[in-house]
Amino acid sequence: MEFCQEYLKEVRAQALYREPVSLKHLDAVHIQLEGEKYLSLSSNNYLGLTHNPKVQKASLDAILQDGTGSGGARLTTGSHPLYKSLEQELAQFKGTEAALVFNTGYMANVGTISALVGKGDLIFSDELNHASIIDGCRLSKGQTVVYRHRDMKDLAEKLTNSICSGKKLIVTDGVFSMDGDIAPLDKIVSLAEEHQAMVMVDDAHAVGVLGRGGRGTVDYFGLKGRVHVQVGTLSKSLASEGGYVAGSQMLIQYLVNKARSFIFSTALSPATVAAAASALKILKATPQLVDKLLENAAGMRTALVAAGLKVDGALTPIIPILVGEAALAIAMNQELKEHGLLVSAIRPPTVSPGASRLRITVSAAHEKEELLKAADIIIAVSRKLNLI
Ligand code: PMP
Repeated sequence: MEFCQEYLKEVRAQALYREPVSLKHLDAVHIQLEGEKYLSLSSNNYLGLTHNPKVQKASLDAILQDGTGSGGARLTTGSHPLYKSLEQELAQFKGTEAALVFNTGYMANVGTISALVGKGDLIFSDELNHASIIDGCRLSKGQTVVYRHRDMKDLAEKLTNSICSGKKLIVTDGVFSMDGDIAPLDKIVSLAEEHQAMVMVDDAHAVGVLGRGGRGTVDYFGLKGRVHVQVGTLSKSLASEGGYVAGSQMLIQYLVNKARSFIFSTALSPATVAAAASALKILKATPQLVDKLLENAAGMRTALVAAGLKVDGALTPIIPILVGEAALAIAMNQELKEHGLLVSAIRPPTVSPGASRLRITVSAAHEKEELLKAADIIIAVSRKLNLI
């Protein structure tokens, strides 16, 4: 087992060593860590619904009625009726015939790609797609062609030049998790239609964010009925845990019978499903939450850009500040922590070497004033570390 020691030595030397830090959520955006209170700018809890009393009560009620665990996989003993109703609500929200809940977004991607793609098939995957998409491609027996990030010329060329007698699947994040930019889904769909390819979009960071009332990228681009597979997660805007696929009835029946990450894993607890169902109900009834989120994101972006910081991304709540080296990202993260802010330092292997960054995420639960104060601190620290 000495290779483990060697590996750990190497990652430490490169400022890439990681370990989970124990922390406590005081509310949707404040964290207690080592006895101190911090403002979190690092959560995917975009709508702040984790601490909504209705969501909490729905989850508690489910525990009291149904116990803490599901007791088995959905196809054996674990499919509580709450699942069906959440799936119907998700399908209605996403504008599809049906939906299927998986245990995580990760498992939804891995299970779906490996179920759809087999030997002799081709996958076209954006180079910055999430690790769970990459792992799904690896697990499938198809061949993966990686196209340059959001580069439609490159995708078109690769579609044209690839010889394939099997199926083709184009897969992309809707909103890219570490960059906050949006996939050109309208162009991807046009290319897919031209080349008879299926399209799959991972809207983990787009639901609750883009489209009417936060319905995601398909709605944002007006592509109803033209995207075959929409993946999402219950763990970000929907304040719980789990993932899902929305699509045709036939696709869902196929995945139930074919997706191994669905078939062979114990179902989520009723309490987890109940929390997501409650959060979805609130999102449907309160589209103003999405407006507040986007206003908060715009406020933070505008403040940082006005100070001369180069921030990437579009209008989404993911606001990355590229710093380059991992050690600098860590230095900035530490400095911000000393000023009461928790901002994630993102390093390889999550991003490629030299592309380390501070990844700021804002929430609808942030107050405008605390965000402006946070922006001032980020700007001052960036100046201190010679980023501007
Ligand atoms: N897709 C994307 C784009 C993600 O960012 C994530 C999680 N960070 C996932 C899938 C996985 O979702 P989950 O955390 O529910 O497994």
